[in-house]
Amino acid sequence: MTMTIPPAVDPVPAERPHPDLASLPPLRDVIARHDLAAKKAFGQHFLLDLNVTRRIVREAGDFTGVTVVEVGPGPGGLTRALVESRAQGVVAVERDPRFAAALADLIAAAGGRLRLVQADALEVDPVDLVPAPRAVVSNLPYNVGTPLLIGWLKRIDQYVSLTLMFQKEVADRIVARPRSGAYGRLAVMCQWLADCRAVMDLPARAFTPPPKVDSAVVRLTPRMRSADDPAFATMEALVAAAFGQRRKMLRASLKGLLHTPEPLLESVGIAPTARAEEVDVDGFVRLAKAWRPL
Ligand code: SAM
Repeated sequence: MTMTIPPAVDPVPAERPHPDLASLPPLRDVIARHDLAAKKAFGQHFLLDLNVTRRIVREAGDFTGVTVVEVGPGPGGLTRALVESRAQGVVAVERDPRFAAALADLIAAAGGRLRLVQADALEVDPVDLVPAPRAVVSNLPYNVGTPLLIGWLKRIDQYVSLTLMFQKEVADRIVARPRSGAYGRLAVMCQWLADCRAVMDLPARAFTPPPKVDSAVVRLTPRMRSADDPAFATMEALVAAAFGQRRKMLRASLKGLLHTPEPLLESVGIAPTARAEEVDVDGFVRLAKAWRPL
């Protein structure tokens, strides 16, 4: 009697290369053919090595059933890796209209799984653009990377993950620990709302043209927030006041916000003489809850 043994692993391959993607020309040829000289004003530094872009997508996690929004596909290096992934679909938001022609072959090869939206990402909310479950993956244009992240944080519970390439200094500020120079508002807000991990460093020479600084990829995975967590606005106001004067002791820097900060600080186990950079994310959460209990 023959027995059919079920496969031990998920039979769907981790990446599903579309047969047509293999026939696409190298990215350098796409750039040359469409005369796509990089524009500094749009933060254009391209990744042309598909091994690198595939690695970024692998670091982003399993996208089975997830629709991915990519900001700034440019000539499409990262976009190709996303189309190869298990993602349900990819929606690429590009401000520079020159890339539409360059991406046409990839869109055709993707067989309905890639859509290009010509828009300024600062004016488009991915939540309105694609259905849940959704994620963002992007080699962000440096000039708008931080404002985009801050906008996405406001609705972070709407995402499976955000996997974002920043200049190294910004990535360091996202994952910074207390008592370090990089620890500040961005670290506290990001780490309060998400598990933040630096998953990959990339030297400037990995990009064409190379930027002046190195880059790093950070993956943010939203935390399940309980209903009694302090509201976003409360945390934001507290952290802004505390780090607004980061050299000052909290009893002084919080004066503008709280009439008498000392008893509140003491009630949550924070020394009034401590400085903002010495307080961990948990400390800020305790303080916010004591200040404005929900
Ligand atoms: N994803 C490509 C890669 O990795 O090679 C290009 C990344 S490049 C760093 C940033 C891209 O974002 C460029 O294609 C640029 O035109 C685009 N971009 C810049 N500002 C934008 C904005 N406000 N909205 C949407 N796309 C933007």
